[in-house]
Amino acid sequence: MSVLILGSIALDTVKTPVEEHSDLLGGSASYAAAAASYFAPVRLVGIVGSDFPQSEFDFWKSRKIDVDGVQRVNGKTFRWSGEYAWDMNTRETRSTDLNVFEKFEPKLPESYRETDFVLLANIAPSLQSHVLKQMKKLRFVVADTMNLWIETARKDLDALLPTVDLLILNDSEAREMTKETSLIKAGRGIRKMGPRYVAIKKGEHGALLFGEDEFFSCGAYPLEDIHDPTGAGDTFAGGMAGYLAGTIGGKVTFTDLRKAIIYGSVLASFCVEAFSLEKLRGLTMDQINERYEAFKMMSQFEVAE
Ligand code: AMP
Repeated sequence: MSVLILGSIALDTVKTPVEEHSDLLGGSASYAAAAASYFAPVRLVGIVGSDFPQSEFDFWKSRKIDVDGVQRVNGKTFRWSGEYAWDMNTRETRSTDLNVFEKFEPKLPESYRETDFVLLANIAPSLQSHVLKQMKKLRFVVADTMNLWIETARKDLDALLPTVDLLILNDSEAREMTKETSLIKAGRGIRKMGPRYVAIKKGEHGALLFGEDEFFSCGAYPLEDIHDPTGAGDTFAGGMAGYLAGTIGGKVTFTDLRKAIIYGSVLASFCVEAFSLEKLRGLTMDQINERYEAFKMMSQFEVAE
């Protein structure tokens, strides 16, 4: 089954303590779509300007990512720039230029409207709702968000939450949203705002998953070399949503979500090993499954297969 992915498509400039690269493919939808494409056909929704390289459309085609929902307009593509501190965790945004994003009104092609699985990757919550309203039938909706929207678009975010099955956010965002210091209270509190499930990412410390009476905690895949953490969260969300869309025929269960979280973490671990999407462009299922099995062993993670 396909997964529809809405989000930002960007040209990024990223500086780490050892390297700096500019005009890299970035954006929440780009990372999520690449990760999801290993498990399910992807229908991408976004906007790019006339400066966006044709080679990236060729890359999407090679990954069987449908780009009928990507608008190409005159003007500049959304640009973002960030700089990492020595811990490769603390990040400062140097600039955000919305450019063609400013006038983005996602209109879904007719062929997209019956997609069962949807990932609303990080983008303004009003746009996330706007896309959901155009869908004809939905089985499972995953949404990601960020501190910017919690601080500047809280009403829109609150309106979106009851329409979402799984909300993914990071630890500081979960605390900010609920004003709770305990992540357990925060996860449970966010469930009360609407989503049936909540996943809280804790960076190098793994992730937590909350259901009605269920709870799951896993670590992160241990990596020695991190070159660029940009997009790890988007890749995690894409891996989860892609795995669910491509594998789960019936109702999504908590056990399915536990497996999805491990696959999301595996894809995110590949993402940070190189700048931009470089590592995500040419993975094999053998590489992914090998890391999945190693992850299971390391975390003593058992699921009913
Ligand atoms: P992450 O590392 O998961 O925070 O995601 C980084 C990606 O998000 C970069 O590739 C950026 O282009 C993109 N991004 C940064 N700010 C925004 C924003 N306000 N809305 C949507 N995408 C953004």
